[in-house]
Amino acid sequence: MGTKKDMQGFCTQAVHAGYAPDSETGALVPDISQNVSFYFTSANDAAEKFSLSRPGFSYSRLTNPTVAALEKKLAALEGGAGATCTASGLAAHQMLLFALMNSGDEFVASSRLYGGTYNQFRNSFSRSFGWQCRFADLGDIDSFKRAVTEKSRAIFIESLSNPSGAIADIEAIARVAEEAGIPLIVDNTIATPYLCRPFDWGASIVTYSTTKYLNGHANAMGGAVIDSGKFDWSQNDKFPALSKPDESYHGLAFHKEFKEMALTYYCHAVGLRDLGACQQPLNAFLTFTGLETLGLRMEQHCKNALAVARHLEQHPDVAWVSYAGLDGSPYKPMADKYLNGRASGVFTFGVKGGFDTAVDLVGNVKLFRHVANIGDTRSLIIHSASTTHSQLTEEQQLKADVRPEGLRVSIGIEDAADLIADLDQALAAATQKAA
Ligand SMILES: *Cc1c(COP(=O)(O)O)cnc(C)c1O
Repeated sequence: MGTKKDMQGFCTQAVHAGYAPDSETGALVPDISQNVSFYFTSANDAAEKFSLSRPGFSYSRLTNPTVAALEKKLAALEGGAGATCTASGLAAHQMLLFALMNSGDEFVASSRLYGGTYNQFRNSFSRSFGWQCRFADLGDIDSFKRAVTEKSRAIFIESLSNPSGAIADIEAIARVAEEAGIPLIVDNTIATPYLCRPFDWGASIVTYSTTKYLNGHANAMGGAVIDSGKFDWSQNDKFPALSKPDESYHGLAFHKEFKEMALTYYCHAVGLRDLGACQQPLNAFLTFTGLETLGLRMEQHCKNALAVARHLEQHPDVAWVSYAGLDGSPYKPMADKYLNGRASGVFTFGVKGGFDTAVDLVGNVKLFRHVANIGDTRSLIIHSASTTHSQLTEEQQLKADVRPEGLRVSIGIEDAADLIADLDQALAAATQKAA
């Protein structure tokens, strides 16, 4: 799935990008660099590294060799200038907005978001940091225009939103951001760079919870900010952290000094330095390994999800299925445009029996695992209204497409027939109990 002729294909880059065999030891995969600090060869070397005039490692809160290998692989797969890894996906949001915003600034976000992101944006960021979030409706591009003010510093959307399956019109929203002189940030966690390339449609920055599909095996938390390197931070006065001299680095201006790497350098040198939510080397190693099979896994996730969704669509006890990969889905045209006709492995469906039957179904699955996660090799199921989205009011839940009879599944890479059989027996058990 390589997009440009002069570039290697996606699966080749997924295996090879980010690391070459070590010239001293010949080690074929990156070492887990369990080092806090890195030796300076002289006082001058130390001073230059601390003032950012010489690249290199000094202290693992800012940079670490294993994390750096993952950052290089992620930037390559996304077609970006640089990447910064964080402890989790939510830590990536915080560090990125910390670079773009001052207290009293605003940003615009789609209301169709992962529940944790919605809480973070709606409650915590405004209370603690004074970053006000104005929400817009993904289905109404004008609502983004109306939400933008002089104080706006970014627009934030999910390419394929969790859990509703809505797909954003990235190109149209990127135009709104461009007119406002602010970057469009796309959380591409569920679509992954294998299915969707937000930079090709005008997005400036992509974020990930690498915890999900990129790691793929549910064994390491992590997040990432990937910068396209194309946004001009000096075009207006909105981004002083990047365009104005930084006092803590003796008046260095990041955009002038580091050009397309300005945001990436800022995220390491100030974001990770001051917020501290760095990624651990072991987690970076596990995600680096997971990424090697991302293309293979996404093919199987998409194929299985389509088979299971088609089966449920015909099931007499199922009221509705919301999966953008289905021909009848209102999001299918967007899936065709932005995701190559595919729709990843996460979707929702509703049972005719309502809330209680949905809860019972979760209690009766045998192969599906009842957990609050997505993007694992294993198939997962959860009743969103009573769990991931329970901190939201009913009105907020409906805005996020979370319904009382709805279940969210993350379809794994097992054999589709086994997944269908498991859902069939759980549906039968739950419906029988309700009758
Ligand atoms: C899980 C998730 C996040 C948060 O990531 P963590 O790694 O759990 O902090 C953000 N966005 C989306 C779409 C997610 O699914």
